[in-house]
Amino acid sequence: MSRVYAIASAKGGVGKTTTTANLGTVLSMAGHDVVVVDGDLGMPNLAGALGVDPDGETLHDVLTGSTTVESATYEGPEGLSVVPGSTALEAFASANAKELHPVIETLQENHDIVLIDTGAGLSDDTFVPLKLADEVLLVSTTEREALGDTEKTRQLGDRIGADIVGVVLTRVNQSNPNADVVAELLDTGVIAVVPEDAAIREALHTQTPVVARSPESIAAAGYRALAEALTGKP
Ligand code: ADP
Ligand code: MG
Repeated sequence: MSRVYAIASAKGGVGKTTTTANLGTVLSMAGHDVVVVDGDLGMPNLAGALGVDPDGETLHDVLTGSTTVESATYEGPEGLSVVPGSTALEAFASANAKELHPVIETLQENHDIVLIDTGAGLSDDTFVPLKLADEVLLVSTTEREALGDTEKTRQLGDRIGADIVGVVLTRVNQSNPNADVVAELLDTGVIAVVPEDAAIREALHTQTPVVARSPESIAAAGYRALAEALTGKP
């Protein structure tokens, strides 16, 4: 059965896009038919993380009704399908996140797993994916501010009846607070831990997800563990 996941946190820069790109790629490498969608309508950068050049139609064109989602689907690494956004300011002004519902429904018919990357904040381009996803994956660093903002996203999800699977802790290193602090600030379980890893920056530089570029890295291992936790198999 097809599953839709929203990858969310009200805090920017915590690793939502990196997580969407790497989780999508690693699930695709494991043989799933996966599509990733750039639901961050204001600051779409998922395509860049995957080395996809959206030189034609984008999700923004689909949302305004000027094209089909099939025409805005590109081939990413390792057989992953990618629906990128447009970086043009005018495109942001004319696209409405509320139109996402039928777009995701169509993608669900054609793929096993749909991952929606979302923007920071609590506006419609976060709210709508939270509402239409089967499951919500929160992403946060272990800084107090990030955990507090992520908790707000969890509360919003809770209020609208979303199924929160847990939080992916990113950029974790020894100087970060321990699990007790995370548990104190965020009312959900930790589903995976992705360590701080220079391999992520290098991968971004070459526009290749770290799970494909440096599969032996500690970050790649974290993303593989996340995929296993979600699908229940190694
Ligand atoms: P968001 O989508 O939440 O705004 P991004 O995925 O764009 O966050 O990540 C923000 C920055 O953090 C990027 O420059 C990314 O390369 C870096 N980053 C994310 N995860 C890690 C990690 N595990 N180790 C090192 N850098 C990371
Ligand atoms: Mg992002």
